[in-house]
Amino acid sequence: MKRAFEQSLPATKKAGDFNAKVIMETMQKDLSQYIKAEALRLGFGACGIAHADKVDAASQKTLQEWLMQGKQAGMAYMASHIDKRLDPRLLMEGAQSVICVALNYYPPIALKKEQYQFAWYAYGKDYHDIMKEKLHALLSGICQQSPGINGKAFCDTAPLWERYWAWKAGLGWIGKNTQLIIPQAGSTFFLGEILLDTTLCHDTPLPNRCGNCSKCLEICPTHALEAPYRLNAGRCLSYLTIEHRGEIPEDAAEQMGNCVYGCDRCQQGCPWNRFVRPTAEPKLQASEAFLRMMPEEWNTLSIERYRELFKGSAVKRAKYEGLMRNIRALRKKPNPASLETEGLPKTDWD
Ligand code: SF4
Ligand code: SF4
Repeated sequence: MKRAFEQSLPATKKAGDFNAKVIMETMQKDLSQYIKAEALRLGFGACGIAHADKVDAASQKTLQEWLMQGKQAGMAYMASHIDKRLDPRLLMEGAQSVICVALNYYPPIALKKEQYQFAWYAYGKDYHDIMKEKLHALLSGICQQSPGINGKAFCDTAPLWERYWAWKAGLGWIGKNTQLIIPQAGSTFFLGEILLDTTLCHDTPLPNRCGNCSKCLEICPTHALEAPYRLNAGRCLSYLTIEHRGEIPEDAAEQMGNCVYGCDRCQQGCPWNRFVRPTAEPKLQASEAFLRMMPEEWNTLSIERYRELFKGSAVKRAKYEGLMRNIRALRKKPNPASLETEGLPKTDWD
């Protein structure tokens, strides 16, 4: 009898291990499904999950070459904490999964072409606050669902390479304009991440679907897109009108058209953005006062009016002086040929 019991031990252990594995996989699947459903309920347009690991060798090389060539211009923070940018596990002990979410910012009402243009993402309230609130709600839901799990939320708050992780998590692909493109949805999205110390069901990265298109490179007025996937930030109007301190170089100023804060041309020209839908997030809608502003009012904007218009807005990143510098630059070098178009262009691309 004793002998028979001993013989059955390995089989029982094997069955136990198998059951434990099945239970673990079911729990991972259930939690992954909960996370995606909850992200959509909170208003995110897409959610995916990647395994937290080192950035792959090809992408590491691309980033390091870009930095070595100084294409990040004055954004010195891009080169600092490079070890963490290349391995998110250094941002949180025990991190095993990266949850990536995207929030649509495409404005329901756009500024008219005779008005000064602001980047679409800057129409409403500061996205950092909106994303933070939603990410923390998602994290708290996860912790309630699965007590004992630890996580950390990020939105532009740490050296996490967000477009890479959004691609790894299956949200979309990085286009030749360096934006993340979500199929059937476009590129007008804020990205956010949550690191979790648990294994989940990971998604598969999507193949690049830019094909033979190069509209973004053709449309860029300053040739900041020097080659597919290669942005020279020092020539990009988005960088020059928002991040850059000091005067805007004259040749770039000549190409501003009527863009006073940011530039969306390489998104406007992208055929995948024919799929964009207006954001449903109320805090990202522009105020009526902002939508009514005409060039004469911007030209004589006081600091008090600036504060009223941009209370709680991301435009404060450029500060009053920065915005007025941009306005002065485009008035000094008006170039009607580079005027902004209204909304998205029609395209026959398919
Ligand atoms: S944001 Fe404007 S300037 Fe910058 S790469 Fe795109 S089109 Fe060129
Ligand atoms: S414009 Fe064309 S090449 Fe550029 S990102 Fe869009 S699909 Fe890709």
